[in-house]
Amino acid sequence: MLTNAPKGTKDILPNFINKWQFLEKKFQSICERYGFKEIRTPVFEHTELFRRGVGDTTDIVQKEMYTFEDYGGRSLTLKPEGTSPAVRAFVEHKQYAEVQPTKYFYNTPCFRYEKPQSGRLRAFHQFGIEVFGTDNMLADAEVILLAHEFLRELGINNIKLKINSVGCPVCRKEHRKALREFLLPKKDKLCDTCKVRLDKNPMRILDCKSPICQQEVKGAPQMLDYLCPDCQKAFEELQENLRAMDVPYEIDPGIVRGLDYYSKSAFEFVTDTIGAQGTVCGGGRYDHLIEELGGPPIPGVGLALGIERLIMVMEANGISFPDEKPLQAFVAFIGEEAKLKAQKLILNLRRHAIKAELDVVARNTKGQFKYADRKGAQYTIVIGEEELQSGQYTVKKMADSSQFTITENELIEMLGSEDEDN
Ligand code: ATP
Ligand code: MG
Repeated sequence: MLTNAPKGTKDILPNFINKWQFLEKKFQSICERYGFKEIRTPVFEHTELFRRGVGDTTDIVQKEMYTFEDYGGRSLTLKPEGTSPAVRAFVEHKQYAEVQPTKYFYNTPCFRYEKPQSGRLRAFHQFGIEVFGTDNMLADAEVILLAHEFLRELGINNIKLKINSVGCPVCRKEHRKALREFLLPKKDKLCDTCKVRLDKNPMRILDCKSPICQQEVKGAPQMLDYLCPDCQKAFEELQENLRAMDVPYEIDPGIVRGLDYYSKSAFEFVTDTIGAQGTVCGGGRYDHLIEELGGPPIPGVGLALGIERLIMVMEANGISFPDEKPLQAFVAFIGEEAKLKAQKLILNLRRHAIKAELDVVARNTKGQFKYADRKGAQYTIVIGEEELQSGQYTVKKMADSSQFTITENELIEMLGSEDEDN
């Protein structure tokens, strides 16, 4: 128990971290190019924020939240998603008083008590972006474009963009009525959660993961057939914008998203290369969320990308990640005086941005060479009696075991220029 991580969680060990750091840098870079700025919010929030934001009838709020009471008697919840906290911060710090739109990106851990399986964890990570302050479909298209380009830059091409409209509170009323009438005769067959949803929020049933419910919703009335003129126009504009930006898409009336706050645009990037949990990215418009969470009536649109699933897709596609920077120099020393010299040398190398290590476990000379070899050092620098006398270093190139003698400045110049090649 003590030496097992909790169910549904995963350590990211150092030999895997290059993948994460690579994706984090790539994501930050594309977000900045598109004019998004990073926001970091706490890992926990008041429970009420998610109840109101994500919605009472969703799986997340009904059965997946890690909720606890703190010593002050407050109910807090580990964030199951990143949008509600971003909205909370936007409202709390009156960011709507600044130039609009507000464009945030984030990289956050999320926590949901789900049934762990491949691509589904209890502690996972998301990249996300949000645009607050416009209901123009160009913003929706820009958000989708960023995700499309991010995936393209990573070399992922067998992933499909599926779009839909979930309408607005006005037209959804009509659809809800039709959906309810369609599902009412099937009520007995639905799962217990969906029986309740039938009254409260029948659209949620379309997103239920139970195979029986999925069977029962086949042929159900589709939101696309109920869109009001305003939502219809928005959906057409979204498509025009996507076409103008060369973003291929498919219309999928089955996409409703697992959170209540969406309106109009809803979309997912889906792949069939990583098994059942193939949705790598999901998002949509939420024109009423900011107001619902106590802010002014400001519309928004955003998306979130599951980082674990993203890594799975890349691996499934055989896309390689850059290796970590190799150890450029290992400094070996023989004797107490040489040790002092080695300490000075290594400091100088590191100050010149050269990746260098020295022996810190008092190995003998042979042991130091062996260690350098195992760590994949490119060069081993030897400091012994002779080197102390001459003021030069003996350098062994590990790849071919050739040896030569150079001064400290020459060494720095050599390793510095090697670095630029990497
Ligand atoms: P799903 O339908 O797969 O449950 P979702 O609709 O609940 O996904 P969102 O809340 O939109 O997902 O989260 C955005 C993305 O975060 C998902 O597309 C997915 O890549 C990732 N994600 C969601 N839940 C998990 C999880 N439990 N483990 C790993 N990644 C997840
Ligand atoms: Mg889910």
